[in-house]
Amino acid sequence: MSNDYRTAGKTWPGAGLPPIVDGHVGETADRAEAAEIRRVGLCVTCVNRREVPNSRGSVFYLCQLSKSDPTFPRYPRLPVLSCPGYRHQR
Ligand code: SF4
Repeated sequence: MSNDYRTAGKTWPGAGLPPIVDGHVGETADRAEAAEIRRVGLCVTCVNRREVPNSRGSVFYLCQLSKSDPTFPRYPRLPVLSCPGYRHQR
């Protein structure tokens, strides 16, 4: 099974409004949420991410797979468009 949104039959959430991501964001998503999806990519809906806010109100996305697998960066370069570790959050 592919975890690449381009081959998994999914629509890239940043392709236009309204964004579509398996049950996470639908047609009623607002523009701020859509912008965050375009900025971050797959990590937004991945079970392996942990959101790390800083004191200035920014949010960083930490990849928890980086703890056990050095091929995954602790803080992935965004947006993440394809990732072998992606697992959709249910
Ligand atoms: S496994 Fe991939 S998509 Fe998931 S949090 Fe890590 S880098 Fe992001």
